[in-house]
Amino acid sequence: MDKKKVESLVKELLIEIEGESNLREGTLNTPKRVANAYSEIFNGYEQDLEEDITIFKASYSEIIISKDIRFYSMCEHHILPYYGKVDIAYLPFEHILGISKFARIVNYFSHRLNVQERMTDNIANYIMNSNLKPRGVMVIVKGTHLCEIMRGVKEPNPIMITSAIKGIFKENIATRNEALQLLKI
Ligand code: ZN
Repeated sequence: MDKKKVESLVKELLIEIEGESNLREGTLNTPKRVANAYSEIFNGYEQDLEEDITIFKASYSEIIISKDIRFYSMCEHHILPYYGKVDIAYLPFEHILGISKFARIVNYFSHRLNVQERMTDNIANYIMNSNLKPRGVMVIVKGTHLCEIMRGVKEPNPIMITSAIKGIFKENIATRNEALQLLKI
């Protein structure tokens, strides 16, 4: 991201929103602040996830769950935030994932322009196709979308739930139900 370019574009946008010919005192440094904020909010584009992923050899063969991973993302339709929690379940095969890696993966896919459906699928596909090679992955995302709330929908706190189910969780109903049961705890 070219921060200087973003700055000048935000400046134009602010002037247009307020119908003025230039920035006023309160918004004078806003373009710079927005550029800095965007470079952090959208840093998913700058990261290289492949190099970061670490797995460990393990004989553990039961379902592993990482629950309530906080995420903040931006909807690609309105450039407004949506945020919430991600639950990830996987059934390992010979390797397990370092506990901190779940948050890193979520961060990587959420810090970009997105729709929740694609973000959910991206997280699941990444884990499924990674060197972890699990027997199955299930990702459930619960998101609150400011573009929905701010634009006057009657329901005060709508939550969107999306899921991506891969491998054995897709094929085997008993295994899927076991994971869903563990997610409720
Ligand atoms: Zn939106």
